[in-house]
Amino acid sequence: MTTPPRLEQIASCVNGYDPDALPVPQAREFIARFVPRVAAVEKLALRAALGRVLAADVISPIDVPSHDNSAMDGFAFRGADLATDGPTVLRIAGTGLAGQQFEGVAQAGECVRIMTGAVMPEGLDTVVPQEFVRVEGERVTLPAGAVKPGDNRRLRGEDLAAGQPALAAGRVLRPADLGLLASLGQAEVAVFRRLRVAFFSTGDELRSIGEPLEPGCVYDSNRYTLWGMLARLGVELIDMGVVRDDPAALEAAFRSACENADAVITSGGVSVGEADYTKKIMAQLGEVAFWKIAMRPGRPMAFGRIESQGRSAVLFGLPGNPVAVMVTFYAFVRDALLAMGGATPAPLPLLRAASVAPLRKKPGRTEFQRGIVTPTENGGWQVRLTGQQGSGVLKSMSEANGLVVLHHDQGNVAAGELVDVLPFEGLI
Ligand code: AMP
Ligand code: MG
Repeated sequence: MTTPPRLEQIASCVNGYDPDALPVPQAREFIARFVPRVAAVEKLALRAALGRVLAADVISPIDVPSHDNSAMDGFAFRGADLATDGPTVLRIAGTGLAGQQFEGVAQAGECVRIMTGAVMPEGLDTVVPQEFVRVEGERVTLPAGAVKPGDNRRLRGEDLAAGQPALAAGRVLRPADLGLLASLGQAEVAVFRRLRVAFFSTGDELRSIGEPLEPGCVYDSNRYTLWGMLARLGVELIDMGVVRDDPAALEAAFRSACENADAVITSGGVSVGEADYTKKIMAQLGEVAFWKIAMRPGRPMAFGRIESQGRSAVLFGLPGNPVAVMVTFYAFVRDALLAMGGATPAPLPLLRAASVAPLRKKPGRTEFQRGIVTPTENGGWQVRLTGQQGSGVLKSMSEANGLVVLHHDQGNVAAGELVDVLPFEGLI
């Protein structure tokens, strides 16, 4: 990993930094400036690299396509043979198939029957699609104006010329990228090693699935939502279970986490005035800022670096409320982990949707509300909230298909007004 700067160095760079009232964009900027990046690289077979982060630019070793070829099923000929007025008549000299080219040389006034992808025969530069012509025996007649010289021909190197960059380092490899690398004949690709992320839940009231639920206790759900979000990010996971609000157990868990992982994510124990020890131990083990973020839900959050046995890890101490965990993960942790894994940051696309009902919103904080987006009859989008917006109501998160993002300076929203929505799902 690269070495992160000190927290106070960043604090002095972030405009108007106030840990007790930190706007969401500033917290994001702070995190982006702080997080270290993995440096280690591994080579993987192409298919194994899906979803991984490219570690070096890929320069094309070949021209793609490697020959001028036909874009259509039809007849290849010389553009110079087109009649200036009236139809053009050509004689068929042979056939060229994809993978089995026409080996002869077509003379002036001749054409070659050709299939899509077949190499353009020597000297020929134009293709007329077969549906435009009349064929009688060896004679092909093109009506006037059917094509212009150079039409329906794909040029060598048109997709990508040898020596040109095909993909840039930092790219998270998608199916199209695997195809592109395959088209260059690359069997292997260099990617950054997977980021290791440890996570655990804190709280005396938490019970794991399978344990009896005593009065006042709740099942630990955060470890499951976190597992799901982290698994989707493609990081290596270390699930450390539930840790009680007990100083020795917490310290042991934090130490073990930072000895084994690049990042540690905890939930619970960071609220103001809580009778637990999480914050104290975080502060003892490293350099940690305790933020009150101007957002809803998910105000408190701890962020920094903890150390043990010469190893260090970035710490995200998320609030305990199940919805706040997810929202703070989407707002801060997702992009931070992608950056740590070597990915070049790219903003997520937001949908603009008309709010079905008026929304109350105070300027001066970012609000993330759970919404259901549906298409409208006129080709746009509309969004309604999923009822109860309490930060413990996981059901409403499960019902939602996106988060309505009400920005820091935004005020009340009238019915019908457009708002930004962050959709949960994208293309596969
Ligand atoms: P805390 O931030 O520790 O004060 O927790 C806030 C609320 O979230 C409390 O009602 C906790 O019981 C609940 N909570 C904390 N951690 C979890 C968890 N892992 N799963 C479900 N609920 C939790
Ligand atoms: Mg707690």
